[in-house]
Parts: sequence; C-alpha cells; structure tokens
Amino acid sequence: GTGKYKGMVEDCCCDYETVDNLNSEVLNPLLQDLVTTPFFRYFKVKLWCDCPFWPEDGMCRLRDCSVCECPENEFPEPFKRPLPSHDLKCQEGKPQAAVDRTIDNRAFRGWVETKNPWTHDDDDTDSGEMTYVNLQLNPERYTGYTGPSARRIWDSIYSENCPKYSYGETCPEKKVLYKLISGLHSSISMHIAADYLLDESSNQWGQNMDLMYDRILRHPDRVRNMYFTYLFVLRAVTKATAYLEQAEYDTGNHAEDLKTQSLIKQLLYSPKLQTACPVPFDEAKLWQGQSGPELKQQIQKQFRNISALMDCVGCEKCRLWGKLQVQGLGTALKILFSVGNQETGDHQTLQLQRNEVIALVNLLNRLSESVKMVHDMGPDVERLMEDQ
Ligand code: FAD
Repeated sequence: GTGKYKGMVEDCCCDYETVDNLNSEVLNPLLQDLVTTPFFRYFKVKLWCDCPFWPEDGMCRLRDCSVCECPENEFPEPFKRPLPSHDLKCQEGKPQAAVDRTIDNRAFRGWVETKNPWTHDDDDTDSGEMTYVNLQLNPERYTGYTGPSARRIWDSIYSENCPKYSYGETCPEKKVLYKLISGLHSSISMHIAADYLLDESSNQWGQNMDLMYDRILRHPDRVRNMYFTYLFVLRAVTKATAYLEQAEYDTGNHAEDLKTQSLIKQLLYSPKLQTACPVPFDEAKLWQGQSGPELKQQIQKQFRNISALMDCVGCEKCRLWGKLQVQGLGTALKILFSVGNQETGDHQTLQLQRNEVIALVNLLNRLSESVKMVHDMGPDVERLMEDQ
C-alpha cells in the first residue's frame, strides 16, 4: 500500500488502493496505447502567444525547451478541414428555425467548433498561427524553465485565482478548484523529476529522486490532490461515455482508427472500472447552495484567468503541456458542470471540440502516469512519511 494514503481519496468515491490497482492494471496500459494513436497524438495549439499580463520574458535556458512542430503533410487530413460552428445563434425567421420534434439519441453529431465557458480560447482569427504538434515527439520533462518567470505564474495562479482554502472553508467548490490546480502542479513536477537532465555535460537523463521527494512526496497534501485530480478527470471521461463512444476517431488511417475506437471502448467499458470505481467523483454535490449560479460564474472566471495565464509560460514546451493540460481540465469542468443540468434549466447537450477530447485523454494519461509513479515507489514513500 502507499503508507498514509489509506482510505478514501478526499471528496471522492474510491479508496487509494482501489485507484492504484485500477490504474496500474487497467487504465494506465490502455491510456499509454491510446495516446500513441494518430488521433490522440496531434494537438492543435497556438504556441506564439501574447501574454496579456506581462511582456514576454523568455526564460528558457535549454534547447530542449523548444517544440518541434509537425510538417504540413504529417498531421491527419480530416483535422485540416474547416468545421461547422454549432454555437447557438438565433435562427428565428429562417426556414431551419422550425422546431424539429424528432428525438435524437445520438450523443455525438460530428466534430464542431464550439465554445467552452471554462477556458480562454485561442483567438482563431489568426488561424495561421495555429500549429499541430506531435506530442510523442515533445515529451513533458525537465526543460530548465525556472526562476522568477516560472515562479510568477504559479504564484498568480495560486494567489489571485484560487487562494489556498483555510480549514474553515465552507465552500467545497473553491476547494475543488484549488485541489485541481495543486494536483496538476504535482503531476507536472512528477514528470519533471521523472525525466530530468542529471548531467548536462554528458547529456544524461533520468529520474531525480531528491526532486521528487522534495517537491511532491514529502507533502502528503500534494499527493492527495494529485489522486483527486485524477479521479475528477476520470469521472468526466466516464460521464461522457456515450459521446466518446460514438465520436469519430477518423484520421484517414483506417486500421489505426479502428484500434483507437477499440481502445476507447475498452477504457470506457472496463469491467474493473465499473465494479471498482464506477463513480470516481460525485459532481452532483456541488453548486447546491443558494448562491450556486453566481459562485459557478465566479469560479468559471477564475479558471478562464488561469487558462489565459498559460500564454505567459516562458518556455515553449512547458507552454504546450500547460495549455494542453489546462484545456483538458477545462473540458472536464465543462462535461461535469456545464451540460444537461436540469435543475438550472441548462438543457444543452454535450458538444466537444476534437481538440478538447485530445486534451482530455492526454491529461488523463499524464495524471495516470503520475499516480503510477507514486504507487510504484510505495515502500519508499511509506518510509519517507515515517521520517516526517
Ligand atoms: P514550483 O514548482 O515553481 O512551485 C512554486 C511554489 O508553489 C512552491 O514553492 C510551493 O509553495 C507551491 N507548490 C508547489 N507544488 C505545489 C502543489 N502541488 N500544490 C500546491 N502548491 C504547490 N518546468 C520544466 O522543467 N518542464 C515543464 O514541462 C514545465 N512545465 C511548466 C508548466 C507551467 C504551466 C508552469 C507554470 C511551469 C512549468 N515548469 C516546467 C516550471 C516548473 O513547474 C517549476 O516552476 C520550476 O521547476 C521551479 O520549481 P520550484 O522548485 O521553484 O517550485
């Protein structure tokens, strides 16, 4: 077991041991395969961004900082075609505005351009600046990005946008936002420590144990938040089962696309997931209070600010993974909190962008890797906790 990480993951519905087993035996192997498929390995992103808060300061020290973009001919043909926009526009007076009363059981209706109230979208007007990046060629790892530039970003994420909750904090929604960010921060630090430049002169890469202990493992709350974030994102994926099952994973490579489809189904319908941890997080408990709607707007705005801050990350590769993972979290928030909420009269059906699904699954894989790393060093973690 993982020492003090016994019992239920805070505010979640499954215990640490179950999560560890489910992750190591079923979810991690599937996710590892899934992210290498052509559908999931290309992420659309605008890497050259104007930071709205501070002038660009480029603190990058290493060559490893830069991202290698895909040549035009490498990324999937279907990804290049323009998509219809399905954001609601008033169609009154037009023939197509007539009400269609047929019941449509399809969850997925084709990929569309659609907005997400939780994220600050890249401005598509300069779509020429959008590029596709092969994530497999740009792993998240140590880049040498550190110092005041990196520090300023984490500081503003924490202090301006989600102040650490005090113990008397009665608002579970604010707690959730803090834990999601802290959990993501832990996971990023895990990946930096797991793939670190140990010796610059001989270009030797490997695991930096001291860093892993120092930044994450000796802070039990950071580890707990990482498990929380993993279960939160996993819940979003299971909630979107109907959508994800029907979605088109079309890249023009038929054999590969069939494999993608099959892996997705294995993930969503894994018997172990359904028996061990069918509801990894209970989203229905949130926004119940009187000020629910206002609070949601406020937290939505805070998360949008965090997402905009990603444009200020002064190292290209960090910006790539920062943007991807924050977009993945924003997608999870949208799935869990912005669709089909009958009580608030929100009857919208779920619609996701292709890029949102790519971000969501890649984020889940990153968190799954981090959880596995903690689990795999179980006895060491236990000893460390006893030393405290
Ligand atoms: P930091 O990780 O910068 O943490 C700053 C402070 O936040 C800590 O002192 C602590 O008080 C608090 N804190 C730390 N962890 C947690 C937690 N889990 N929960 C709550 N509070 C916490 N560097 C790379 O080498 N590769 C990357 O891919 C990379 N990606 C990045 C992506 C983003 C979005 C950002 C903002 C930075 C990224 N960095 C990356 C930089 C990296 O995260 C660190 O900022 C850098 O390594 C300096 O680390 P540090 O020891 O100063 O602590």
